[in-house]
Amino acid sequence: MQEVEDADQWQAHLQGLGYDIALAQRPGRADGCLIGWLPKLRCKGKMILNFDDCLSLQKVPPSVFARFARKNIALVVELEDEGSGKSFLLATTHLYWGSEHEDVRLWQLQVLLESAASHFGSHKPLALCGDLNMLPWGSGYKLLQTGRLEVPRKFRNVERFLVDRDISKAAKPLRLLGLDVSVESGEEREQRPEASQGLRTAKIPLVSRAAREARVLVSASKRLVNRADASLAYFIDARQFEMSLAKLCIDLAVDLSPERFYTRCVKCNGRVIPLADNEQEQDRARAFGAPESGIPLFTCTMCGQIYWFSRDEGSASARARLQVDNLVKLVEKTMQHEGLRCKQELREDLVMASSHFLRDGGGCLEHCWNLRSAYEDVEPKERNLHETVTNSKYGFHGCIDYIWLSPDFQQYQRLQLPTVSDLIEEPGKPLPSMVSSGWPSDHWPMAVDITWTT
Ligand SMILES: [Zn+2]
Repeated sequence: MQEVEDADQWQAHLQGLGYDIALAQRPGRADGCLIGWLPKLRCKGKMILNFDDCLSLQKVPPSVFARFARKNIALVVELEDEGSGKSFLLATTHLYWGSEHEDVRLWQLQVLLESAASHFGSHKPLALCGDLNMLPWGSGYKLLQTGRLEVPRKFRNVERFLVDRDISKAAKPLRLLGLDVSVESGEEREQRPEASQGLRTAKIPLVSRAAREARVLVSASKRLVNRADASLAYFIDARQFEMSLAKLCIDLAVDLSPERFYTRCVKCNGRVIPLADNEQEQDRARAFGAPESGIPLFTCTMCGQIYWFSRDEGSASARARLQVDNLVKLVEKTMQHEGLRCKQELREDLVMASSHFLRDGGGCLEHCWNLRSAYEDVEPKERNLHETVTNSKYGFHGCIDYIWLSPDFQQYQRLQLPTVSDLIEEPGKPLPSMVSSGWPSDHWPMAVDITWTT
C-alpha cells in the first residue's frame, strides 16, 4: 500500500488480522508506504529508500536539486518462505506526479531498481507495486517493460538556452560560440513578479517558455534558478560574469569547436550563412557598408544582417573575435585548474546510471529485472472509453498504478479494474473523483494471487 495515512491505525488493524508489517513514513508528509505479510513468510531484510537522500549524496546544481527533491520514498522487503527457505523481494512506492516531471519519475524509478539490486542482489524474484504516476504509453512503462530506455540528454552538450533579460548581455558571447540563445522578451520580463514569494510560486512566462522550448534557463536570479518547475536552469553570478560563463560552458559540456563559431546572428539568434553570389544580395551588402574587396560576406537568414571579418582592430568583428578568444581561453584555463575533477570523472564506470542521469539530464537507464505488468492485457494503449482506470481525481483519470512481476511469479487470479465507461456519469464530462465519503482513496485497489518458484 502507498499513500497510507494514520499508519498506527493501519498497523493495529492489520496486526489484528494476523499480518506482520513494515512501514516507511514520507519525510515531512502525512503519508507513507506499508507492506504487510502473513506469518508463513518471514521478513529477511528491509530497505527504506528516501529518494532525496540519494540526491544529497551527489553534487548537483541547486536547480537540479530543487527539481528532483520531492519527498518521495519507496519500501522494499525481502520475504522468505519458512518452509522452503526461498525468498523474494516485494517493493512499493509512490513516485512523483505531474506531466512535466517525467524525468523526475524516471530517475526515482531507476534509483529504486538500482538500490534494490545493490542492497538485495538482482537475482531475487521481484514484485514491484505502487502508484508510479506513469501512463502505459509513457517512457517509465517502457523502461520497466524492456529493461532499457534512452532519454535525450537535456543538460549535457546543451545547445539551446533562454537568457534572463536582466543579463541579456550573456546572449552575445554564447551566440558567437554558435549556440541557439533566446532572450526573455520585455513583455515576459514585465510579467515576472518582483516579490520573492511570487517568484517562488507564480506562473512565470520565462520559466514556462524554457520548459516548452526545451531550453536551459540562464539567470542571475537564484530564486528563479531554484524554481522547482524550472525545466533546467543555470545560475550566472553577475559579479563574476566572465567566469560564470566559462563555468557554464564546462558544466554543460558546451561544444567549443571553432567551426561552429560565428554561425549565429548576435542580433536576433538567426542562422548566419555565406551570402548568395547574386546581384541583389551583393547590392544589399553594399547598402550595409560591406567592403568591396572580395572578402567573404555572410548574412543572417532571419534579420538579413550582413557580416564580414574586418582586419580593423576597432571593428565589431574584431571585438567579437576577442570576446570568443577570451572566453575559450578562460574555459581552457579553468579546466586545467580543475584538473582533479576531470580525473574523478574518469572513474565513471563506477557510477550508477541514475547519477549520470542527474548530471546529464538524460542518458541510458537500465535494469536487469525481466518485469511484466500483471494487468498488461487490460492496460490501455491510448485514451478511450474502454480504457482501464486505476485513479480518478480533480478531472484527471488514468491507469497509473501497477503490479510488476518478474518471471518467477505465476499469477492465477486478480481483482478486476473499472473502465472509463463504468465510471462516467455524463458523456464529455471528466470522470468523478473516486475519493468520496463512501470510498477512502482516489485509487482503485489492485491485487493478484501468485505462486512463485526460484
Ligand atoms: Zn539576425
